[in-house]
This record gives sequence, C-alpha cells and structure tokens, in this order.
Amino acid sequence: MTAAALADMLRARRTGAGKWMARCPAHEDHSASLSIGVGEGGRILVYCFAGCALGAVLEATGLGMKDLFDGPPPSPEQACNFARERGQRAIEATAFRLERIQLADLYRRLWKASDALGERLAHEADDAHGMELLAQLFHRSVEQLRSIEPILSEGLR
Ligand SMILES: [Zn+2]
Repeated sequence: MTAAALADMLRARRTGAGKWMARCPAHEDHSASLSIGVGEGGRILVYCFAGCALGAVLEATGLGMKDLFDGPPPSPEQACNFARERGQRAIEATAFRLERIQLADLYRRLWKASDALGERLAHEADDAHGMELLAQLFHRSVEQLRSIEPILSEGLR
C-alpha cells in the first residue's frame, strides 16, 4: 500500500509533499492527530500525536504491518532505521504536546488580562483614558508573549 492510498482511505488532509493529517481511527479524535507520511523506500509513516500505538492504529484501519510497505519487507538494517525514526517522532510528539500546554496557559493569561480591562472600561466614560488602558493591555500582552517565548522554543527544540 502507498501513503497516498492510506491518506485517501482515512480522508486525510494534505499538509505538504507526501504529508497528510487525518483523524486517528484508534481513538475519539476531534482534531486531526494522525500524521501520515512517506518514508524510506516508499514505506508509510504513521504517527498518532495523541499517543496511540502503531498496532492500535493499524488494527482500527484493518491493516497489518506488511501493508505499510510498498514492496518487499525491510532488511534488518532498514528495520533498525525505522525504530530510530519512531524514537525521533516520539520526541517530536512530546514537544508538540508541551507547546499546546504552554499556548493554552498563554491564552488563559491574555484572556484574564482583557477581562479585567473590559471591567475597567465599563466604568470609564473618557475615551482617551480607554485608549490608554488598551495601550497598557497591549504592552502587557507583548510582555507575556516575550516571557513565554523561551519556554516555547525550548519545548520545540
Ligand atoms: Zn490516536
């Protein structure tokens, strides 16, 4: 089987050359968490960012390991490379989850700040003063973004 055929089967969205994202069939997936790609020798790369095991994804799709290869099964050396690639992907998935946690926290903080501003504006009749408060909020948001930036780039490294 080819990656394109699997992408078709799971009605995946194409995200780049030889890359797709689909709803994972192995868990209740509300966003597209399943990454499909083309590996060495046309082999299909499948990875669920929510953490489903490859076996679970294949079982839910009705496929076997051999279906991931477009041709003969891999040599021991190829199998070793595949294992290394999977390790790399596990690290990427951890970074992806970390980024989502950090972003959620950032949004919560920005939301709180704008909520407080709305409350203050409701008591202000003076437009010039309102603008001053908006400028302050913007300044604070930028500072919050700056403070979280090193954590984000650390998580994505
Ligand atoms: Zn999954």
